[in-house]
Amino acid sequence: MKKARIWLLIAVILPWIIARCAAPHAYRSRQIIHYRLGNTDIRLIHYDYDSLPVVWFNMHDDENTAVRAARRVVGHGRLWELRHPGGRNIRFRLHGKRYGFDPNRIYTPEGRKKTLKEFSHAYTPEADTAVARFARFVLGQVVNDAAVVVALHNNTRGRYSVESYLPGARYAADAAEVHQAPATDPDDFFYCADTLLFRRLAAAGWNALMQNNASVTDDGSLSVYCGRRGIRYVNIEAQRGHRRMQARMITSLQRILDSIVHR
Ligand SMILES: [Zn+2]
Repeated sequence: MKKARIWLLIAVILPWIIARCAAPHAYRSRQIIHYRLGNTDIRLIHYDYDSLPVVWFNMHDDENTAVRAARRVVGHGRLWELRHPGGRNIRFRLHGKRYGFDPNRIYTPEGRKKTLKEFSHAYTPEADTAVARFARFVLGQVVNDAAVVVALHNNTRGRYSVESYLPGARYAADAAEVHQAPATDPDDFFYCADTLLFRRLAAAGWNALMQNNASVTDDGSLSVYCGRRGIRYVNIEAQRGHRRMQARMITSLQRILDSIVHR
C-alpha cells in the first residue's frame, strides 16, 4: 500500500507540481505603449524575448486564456497584448459621439466600415479616419517586419471550431482546406493563412484549416490582411479555459517555426 502511494506521488503528483512551478521564459524587456483613441486609453503590452522575427499577438482583451498560455511558454520573438476597457470590442467617444469596433476587423477599409457600423451609435467618416490611424499604428508596432504573425484567440465551447469550416458549414467558403484530427476537441485548432504552416501543423496532428486567400470574405481581420500581403500568418484558436492545451499548441508551433524562421 505504501509503495503504491509513493509511485502515485512520483508518477502523477510530482510532474504536476513541476509543471505548476515552471517559471515562464525570461524576457529581455517589457514595455507599455499608450495610444489615445478619442477619450479611450489603449495600451499595447510588449514582451521582447529575442531577435527571432516572430510576433505573438493577443488583441481581444477578454481572451485571457491565450495570454496566460503564451506568457508561460513563449520564449522567442515578441509577444504583444492589447489592453483596453470593455472586453472584446474597443469603445471610444469622439466629439461627443460614441463608437465601438472589434479590434480584429479594422485592417481593411471594408471591414473597418462594417465593424464601426455594427457597434457604433452611427457611422461617421471622422471615426473611420481615427480607427484607420489606430489600425496603422497597431500594424506598425506589432506586425512591422515580422516573418511570421501568430494571433492568439479564445472561443466559447461549441460556437466556433474547425468544424465551422467543413463543407456545408457556416464558413466553408472561407477555407481552402480543412484537416480535422481524430479524437480531438474541434474548438482547439490552428487557422492558417500560409500553406507551409498549414501542412506542418496538420502533419503534427493538429486540427488546422487553410484560409482561401483568394476568395476569403473581407471582414477586415488580420488573417485577411496578412493573406493578401503574403505575410505568414497563423491563429492559435483554443476554447476558453483550455490553457494547457493552448500552451501545447504554442510549443508545437514554436518547434515548427524553429526550422522555418531564421534570425
Ligand atoms: Zn479573439
